[in-house]
Amino acid sequence: NSGLGRKPSWLKMKLPTGENYSRLLNLVNDQRLHTVCQEARCPNMGECWSAGTATLMILGDVCTRSCGFCHIATGKPPTLDTEEPARVGYAVKQMSLNHVVITSVNRDELADGGAAIWAETIRQIRLQSPGTSVEVLIPDFCGDWDALQLVLDQKPDILNHNIESVPSLYKIVRPQAKYPRSLKLLQIAREKGLVSKTGMMLGLGEEEAEIDSVIDDLVSIGCEILTLGQYLQPTPKHLPVKRWVHPDEFAMWKERGESRGLRHVESGPLVRSSYHAEQQVRSHQSV
Ligand code: SF4
Ligand code: SF4
Repeated sequence: NSGLGRKPSWLKMKLPTGENYSRLLNLVNDQRLHTVCQEARCPNMGECWSAGTATLMILGDVCTRSCGFCHIATGKPPTLDTEEPARVGYAVKQMSLNHVVITSVNRDELADGGAAIWAETIRQIRLQSPGTSVEVLIPDFCGDWDALQLVLDQKPDILNHNIESVPSLYKIVRPQAKYPRSLKLLQIAREKGLVSKTGMMLGLGEEEAEIDSVIDDLVSIGCEILTLGQYLQPTPKHLPVKRWVHPDEFAMWKERGESRGLRHVESGPLVRSSYHAEQQVRSHQSV
């Protein structure tokens, strides 16, 4: 429990149900795939899965890192599954998605951080489901920009990498990550002509001035899309929620971010990286 009492009404979730939901669940299980929606206990599963949108997680379900907000298991990951990219391509085709979001755990024990599997996964989706736009939510590859280039070469429609929080909280939120390194990654993606996108959780103890300064940093490197959502504590062992951020404040950050120069800010209590992602591609293509 966060110590803040019951969740406010705007955080109530809808239960996942319906035909599309069962269809996706069967497909994910048959193809031995993992979804962030399930692992992160995402509050939008009802809405997204019923609409046929999911975030697939590649490179296994055990991470080499231990972020303070994250529900994914930390430990020694399993052997690399080189057949996974083809299965992901097949699943995306079967799901008939307009837009797919792929993400992964960190595989810091691998020389390329898993970048080759990342690249092959994008290639397989393009091959098997050419009409689907691809958004990748990638790790930082420990700052190995040659590894990053393998992913960029496949030209994903959106290159997403989450900064997650303000720099002063990195030691508890993302102990193995570095704020300048994540900014650099987003900057490189932008310089290579890709749409760069990032996301941050609010309610972990960040100050207003710190959020402002992150927005300034993002604008200065040309980052285009920002998602802002309420941090929810997945289990009592994870970082406590410091504050329930009111929907009006989320609306204020959207306005402030866009007026400062971010092309699109998706901001609300239940917003997650992949929430309404499909619409962000569309709006990009129509610009
Ligand atoms: Fe899955 Fe993302 Fe939708 Fe959550 S917001 S259910 S993680 S696709
Ligand atoms: Fe979770 Fe990603 Fe952190 Fe791993 S690197 S613990 S998957 S947020």
